[in-house]
Amino acid sequence: MIKATGFNSSMHVDEQDLLETNKNCVFCCSKDLKKLFNVQKKPAIMLVKCKRCKAVSVDRFPKDGLLKDYYESYYSVNKTGVTFSDIERFSAVIFDGVRNLSKKRMKILDFGGGSGSIAINIARSMLKEKKANSVEITIVDYNSFSIEDIGNIEVNWVDTLEKVNEKRFDLVIASAIVEHIPRGDSVRKLLRLVDKGGIVYFRTPFVVPIIRLFKLFKINIDFTFPGHLHDLGKDFWENILDIYQIENFKILSYSASPVESNFKTSFIRTFAAHLFKFPSRFFNFYDLVGGWQIFFKKID
Ligand SMILES: [Zn+2]
Repeated sequence: MIKATGFNSSMHVDEQDLLETNKNCVFCCSKDLKKLFNVQKKPAIMLVKCKRCKAVSVDRFPKDGLLKDYYESYYSVNKTGVTFSDIERFSAVIFDGVRNLSKKRMKILDFGGGSGSIAINIARSMLKEKKANSVEITIVDYNSFSIEDIGNIEVNWVDTLEKVNEKRFDLVIASAIVEHIPRGDSVRKLLRLVDKGGIVYFRTPFVVPIIRLFKLFKINIDFTFPGHLHDLGKDFWENILDIYQIENFKILSYSASPVESNFKTSFIRTFAAHLFKFPSRFFNFYDLVGGWQIFFKKID
């Protein structure tokens, strides 16, 4: 079986570790859900698409305890604490999207940021290009990492988003994290944490169209449940501000997400990913991209 991502692996989840079947979309509460296909047979776990907000989610979520165990073992094999093989290249993509941000003391929130290496890289670029005099980074992650301040970069770590409820940030990063969280309210919560003039970045997998295509050729691509619980493409991200009736944000830019792997460590996978993403530059309807990224700006 081919995996949808090079980083998570799927695992069978037993009945006792599963919550009840969702009757509503966890992002917009709509009951108008369309069944797609199974990601696990027994007990059955099905992908469903919300006809209103276009989010695709599994219809049953694993319990918190199972997810905690899953991620603890996950980080023990992924020692860097981030799910990207080329952190510098990826930080540059985000920095490029937020290039117009400028503030004396820049506040960055990295949700699910692992060891914080992406946020730290972005902070370095901001200091280097004189976009800020100092940067304060807050990392929200299940797992704690030993964190040290670096020069004019102060790094703090908290374990839940609730602990930063009162704060507002100039840049909020949610890179490859929303798909791991059962509760769909994380998107709304993250938008709320953005300060006036600030930017929020989301990157999520969008693999369902690719899985469907390969099914035609009897090739199974693993959705990597319970690592991934949602699949969010352009339809979802383009419309979510309207669905939530949020008027003080606008879309800055969006595109197919950058390729996660690199040619050095996995040539065929990387080549295939570039090949699949390429047409999205020219055709708006094309959706075999594997993932989306989007920048929203708070306008007042
Ligand atoms: Zn929905």
